Amino acid sequence: MFTAAVSAEPEATRPAPLLSVVMPIYNEQEALPLTVERLRPILDDLGISYEVVGIDDGSTDATPALMQKIHQDWPEFRIVRFARNSGHQAALTAGIHRAFGDYVVSIDADLQDPPEKIPEMLSLAREQNLDIVYGVRGDRGTDTVFKRRTAGAYYWLMRKLVGKKMPNQAGDFRLLSRAAVEALKALPEHQPVYRLLVPWLGFPSGEVVYVREERVAGSTHYPLSKMLRLAIDSITNFSAAPLRLATWLGVLSFVLCFGLGVYTTVAYALGKTVPGWSSLFIGMLFLGAVQLICMGLLGEYVGRIYSAAQARPAYFVGYDSAEGRSAKSAKVSEFVA
Ligand code: UDP
Ligand code: MG
Repeated sequence: MFTAAVSAEPEATRPAPLLSVVMPIYNEQEALPLTVERLRPILDDLGISYEVVGIDDGSTDATPALMQKIHQDWPEFRIVRFARNSGHQAALTAGIHRAFGDYVVSIDADLQDPPEKIPEMLSLAREQNLDIVYGVRGDRGTDTVFKRRTAGAYYWLMRKLVGKKMPNQAGDFRLLSRAAVEALKALPEHQPVYRLLVPWLGFPSGEVVYVREERVAGSTHYPLSKMLRLAIDSITNFSAAPLRLATWLGVLSFVLCFGLGVYTTVAYALGKTVPGWSSLFIGMLFLGAVQLICMGLLGEYVGRIYSAAQARPAYFVGYDSAEGRSAKSAKVSEFVA
């Protein structure tokens, strides 16, 4: 799907590299230079052909200019720019869909995932013929207690949903083989949550343990609201269990109401009628709450059906340096979902 190459050295006609490193980047002007400084020697020392796919997720600071500069003195650094901020998972999707490599490693741009582990992942995959190598966090000592607790709860729940195949504490730092990438690309999901979909594939996999480092510069773009969003997306993308929860809540409230009904009838028969205001009021509140919860859960799914029916793309690519297109002509975005 290459367009005519216009640059002196047509990048698109190069053979596919062995390794692609996919990196979502959003407002990382402080961290990115440090990341590049550490990543480049590691990749150069591998002695293989590689590309780094930097996904600029609609940055509004100096990041786009910085990336352009990096691309100039590091030709292997490829730029894919989103027209607007679409989120970390959408950036990952774009990277995985567009990477050319036989192996694709996804990594954060803030050096929380140590790039030194990439060679280890690659040699493990090649030696043991694995399709997936998870980066597993051995120690979250540098994360806040709150982040550790919420992450712990998230992984516990996800293991319940996806099953034992899901490695504990595996984030988005992982290696995928071309076969795994093609399998993921074939999935119809519009908003894939890869940390669940990849274990679901069930391809031969291995693990590399690493220590989650502190963010090298700048601050997190994952506030509580986005963390909750990811958890809700993960659950509703993967399971209808919450709908069943709504049913069970309904059954429970029915039983409670029945019990209250019996109590009221007996009290009436014994002539012990009390004003009953409090029990009525509590019952009303309780039912109101249950109904609201059920409606909220249904809404999650209805919303999902709605967006699937709309078939909106998860992201728009404005520019891809590997395709040699100008940012302007590329505004007519293709639909990649
Ligand atoms: N990121 C992104 N789009 C966003 C938010 C974050 O592409 O809307 C990138 C960010 O630049 C980083 C990675 O996703 O490379 C992880 O984000 P961050 O470090 O803010 O999250 P945390 O590590 O705190 O969970
Ligand atoms: Mg981070």
